[in-house]
Amino acid sequence: MPARPRLSVVCPAYEEEDVLPRFHAALVPAVEPLAADYDLELLYVDDGSRDRTLDVIRDLAAADPRVRYVSLSRNFGHQAALTAGLDHATGDAVVSLDSDLQHPPALIPVLVAKWRDGFDVVLTIRGDDRRLGWFKRLSSRAFYQVLGRMSSVEVRPAAADFRLLSRRAVDELGRLREAHRYVRGMVQWLGFRVAEVPFEPAARQGGVSKYTLRRMLRFATDGLLSFSPAPARLAAGAGVAITAASWLLCVCAVALLVPLSEPVARVGLVLLTALHLLAACGLGVAAVLGEYAARVYDQAKGRPVYVVKEATAGAGHGVARVR
Ligand code: UDP
Ligand code: MG
Repeated sequence: MPARPRLSVVCPAYEEEDVLPRFHAALVPAVEPLAADYDLELLYVDDGSRDRTLDVIRDLAAADPRVRYVSLSRNFGHQAALTAGLDHATGDAVVSLDSDLQHPPALIPVLVAKWRDGFDVVLTIRGDDRRLGWFKRLSSRAFYQVLGRMSSVEVRPAAADFRLLSRRAVDELGRLREAHRYVRGMVQWLGFRVAEVPFEPAARQGGVSKYTLRRMLRFATDGLLSFSPAPARLAAGAGVAITAASWLLCVCAVALLVPLSEPVARVGLVLLTALHLLAACGLGVAAVLGEYAARVYDQAKGRPVYVVKEATAGAGHGVARVR
């Protein structure tokens, strides 16, 4: 560890022109006390915002040499923006937090203290908070229950994307170049010593949430399919069971109804039902396998996770640095 370690704070921002100046005004006094012992780097990632977010960030960088930024060429999504920030951060420890003031910057010195105690990963655990809205709370709880059952990697429920990673953890995370990124799962996958710090999330201090229902579903799918083969296994198991049942049904139909010289129409009906069952299960299995195949395809393409449009001088090239 150098005599004056470097501390990076990574903040992804997508269309946050409204809240960003207030966020920065809260961030600076929160990390100022650390400036006595650490070289600070405040790294903003503009995730292809179409509003004035990049202008705001440029102004912040012009006014304060500790502010650096990376601006992505289009909106790549929160997890990709976070990855871009981690790739470009130069600190011996890197803290990431949302730039809408839902994650309290005042907690950063607490995370740093844990890191100095020897933890490579310091997670923050969101307290149960009414302000999150019932839908987000219930769906998140249900999701982590399912993920916990299915996955071999334990992802802490309510773990926020507000965390500290040591240089070692950041470098190791950088070696995972998967296309569908579920960073909180990937961090757990790394192993290392993990500390947890509870916090009460605040309400968003301006702008609107970028996680629409569609994005939340995609995020949940990424978490499930990237960390568990269970959906494919479940589909395969159900496929076999349903196929066996429909075959049995056919045999019964023929054995029972034909000798009793029942109307042929009834036999036809039973066969039709069996065929429908079979077709339905076939389609279900194909859908799940198709989802995995799509992921293999994505990964095989080997595209970088993001493309940088602009960065402060000396920012380096993330992917080149990692590989
Ligand atoms: N964000 C991003 N790219 C996106 C969506 C969100 O960089 O495509 C950022 C956003 O600016 C914020 C953080 O990720 O700093 C979390 O997003 P948001 O607050 O909208 O999510 P929520 O807190 O509602 O789950
Ligand atoms: Mg938020």
